[in-house]
Amino acid sequence: MSLIVMKFGGTSVADIKKINNVANLVANESINNKLIVVLSAMAGVTNQMQKYIDEIESKENIENDLLLTSGENITIAILSAILKKKKIKSIPLLGWQIPIITDDYHQKAKILNIDNNRIKQFFSNYDVIVLAGFQGINTKGYITSLGRGGSDTTAVAIASAVSADRCDIYTDVEGVYSADPNIVPQAKKISKLAFEEMLEMSSSGAKVLHTRSVELAMKNNLVLQVLSSIVNKPGTLILDEKKLIEKEIVSGVSYSKNESKITISGIPDKPGISAKIFGLLAAKNINVDMIVQNISQDGITANITFTVQNDEIFAAKKLLQNSLNTIGYQSLKTDKNVSKISVIGMGMMSQSGVAQKMFKTLANNSINILAISTSEIKISVLIDEKYTNIAVQSLHNAYNLEKNNE
Ligand code: ADP
Ligand code: ASP
Ligand code: MG
Repeated sequence: MSLIVMKFGGTSVADIKKINNVANLVANESINNKLIVVLSAMAGVTNQMQKYIDEIESKENIENDLLLTSGENITIAILSAILKKKKIKSIPLLGWQIPIITDDYHQKAKILNIDNNRIKQFFSNYDVIVLAGFQGINTKGYITSLGRGGSDTTAVAIASAVSADRCDIYTDVEGVYSADPNIVPQAKKISKLAFEEMLEMSSSGAKVLHTRSVELAMKNNLVLQVLSSIVNKPGTLILDEKKLIEKEIVSGVSYSKNESKITISGIPDKPGISAKIFGLLAAKNINVDMIVQNISQDGITANITFTVQNDEIFAAKKLLQNSLNTIGYQSLKTDKNVSKISVIGMGMMSQSGVAQKMFKTLANNSINILAISTSEIKISVLIDEKYTNIAVQSLHNAYNLEKNNE
């Protein structure tokens, strides 16, 4: 008998009919296996909770996380009740009942520990544990949430803790595609992807998997499968790169509209200034992504452009405005209407001309590049947000991704 983790996202549990469909998939797997079924909230419910928080302008971490995680309480209760009707020995559990212990960073808590012994005890009485994703409990005893999309991370963390034989992430698409299939209809399902590629795809905007879930799977060498909860077909396997024999130069294109640009102009061009600016931001836990620096025309001052996530732009701007005297700059401009486009592929490590093709394709579409950043297996550019779709579609085309993955 194997131990399998099955995770279902918001669209897969959006209503009773869909939860009944999940119950059938679970019932089928439970014939020969012990299961941990991780659920998200019904699609839209967590957004609604966030709206309530915004409406009352709540800054209360304990209350906010209680609200944000409440949708998962509903879905696990419904699924477990349906499973019991099918005579399956099931138990619905919240994060704290395992417990899934996290740190104190409400809204972006990290899992510190999962008690495997408690899980074993539950399995002596039950065959299926239906677990609320996205939530944990901190050492002070309060409910925390893992960041939006975090139930993937719950699934991977629990699968690692129990050394599960499989970890299957069921969603509303058939797997990981060469680009978001909602933007590029010709995008192709990728049958196998290296952890590193998936990590770059997720962190550059492909929300099909929560970035931290991929990090954790890679660390624990846990093979993941992303597959459809509607269509019964093999999905995408995410695994150790060494197991992939042949790799395409570029595997996928992703985009993120969750970027904001800050330009500080007229900064004294002397050593230590960048350290000062980015030190101030780091001290406030504000993550900086892309950075471009250039000398201004007078040769005495410099300009720095960088990006932060949309929800941190307000704090970053305020901090820099308050530090005008310490840094000494002439002007500060911010722009939320930018988008980051990335091309990703393991094969890039051994190929030249990948970046050139990206820049040429964008130029052919009259799209201006505002910033560039690269890693061994990724090239990202910042562009005006209004060109997002055309950029993703034309790059998908330029790298022949429709054909490559056929
Ligand atoms: P769930 O509710 O199951 O967690 P998500 O909405 O978080 O699902 O993730 C699935 C969505 O991710 C898809 O509907 C798709 O629009 C989006 N997506 C973005 N990039 C990709 C990609 N490269 N491959 C597949 N899906 C992608
Ligand atoms: N329900 C949570 C969210 O919408 C967690 C998840 O879907 O993974 O962010
Ligand atoms: Mg998700």
